[in-house]
Amino acid sequence: MGFLAGKRALITGVASDRSIAWGIAQAMAREGASLAFTYQTERLGERVREMAAETGSSICLPLDVASDDEIRRMYDALAARWTSVDVIVHSVAFAPRDQLAGSYLESVTREGFQIAHDISSYSFAALAKYGRHLLSPASALLTLTYLGAVRAIPNYNVMGPAKASLEANVRFMAAELGAAGVRVNGISAGPIKTLAAAGIGGFRSMLQHVANATPIRRNVTIEDVGNAAAFLCSDLAAGITGEILYVDGGYSQVGMSL
Ligand code: NAD
Repeated sequence: MGFLAGKRALITGVASDRSIAWGIAQAMAREGASLAFTYQTERLGERVREMAAETGSSICLPLDVASDDEIRRMYDALAARWTSVDVIVHSVAFAPRDQLAGSYLESVTREGFQIAHDISSYSFAALAKYGRHLLSPASALLTLTYLGAVRAIPNYNVMGPAKASLEANVRFMAAELGAAGVRVNGISAGPIKTLAAAGIGGFRSMLQHVANATPIRRNVTIEDVGNAAAFLCSDLAAGITGEILYVDGGYSQVGMSL
């Protein structure tokens, strides 16, 4: 029996079979969880439905996190299928492409800053705010963050402040929801070639640099992140909340590569 047997997990952020959310969904399904998926646009809906079916799931709901109404409607539709939820995975981020290359100060705009924070950080709090009535007494919320939250990384630009805000969200939400038995954590993943990452300037050289400099001498995979996510959202991690777990092959822990 898998260590997530009997758990129901809502997975946001699957866009392709390279998505980190897909690595998480596969690990959670393998460990026995029942899954529900969301998709951002109708264009993605068909692909996500096919991928969901591979995990044995028939629950696929539209969700654009830019709208509180849409978040509420998604939970109403989910409640028609499930009486409660044990795991919510937030694997969603966005900043306009012109924000993700070159000088931070030259590229950042008021609008770009607002969009990045709204879609990439507020949406995690919103998922908890509108879904908390469905959360079971031993449930776990998880988000995906990046080293740019705590270090200035070239081209990551406004996503750095947005991820810093997201990590603060993890702490505030953990403090508030802990008494209800709800744990809230983040995984800070190393760079992985996904649709979202491809929009970051110089991403290919970033992958190469990290693979050479990281203690494990390779980039992490969606399987690495998926396995850590399955653990963090399981009862095996019952004592862990408010935490950012680095799944980056140790890159963030070393200071010099010669
Ligand atoms: P991805 O492109 O596969 O996934 C991003 C998802 O965000 C997509 O499914 C997209 O539909 C969704 N999304 C964007 N705007 C949305 C909106 N308004 N409403 C609903 N969904 C929306 O890329 P990914 O790399 O798997 O990204 C998942 C998460 O992992 C993001 O938070 C990202 O910042 C984080 N992350 C990625 C890396 C990396 O190198 N790929 C590293 C660390 C953290």
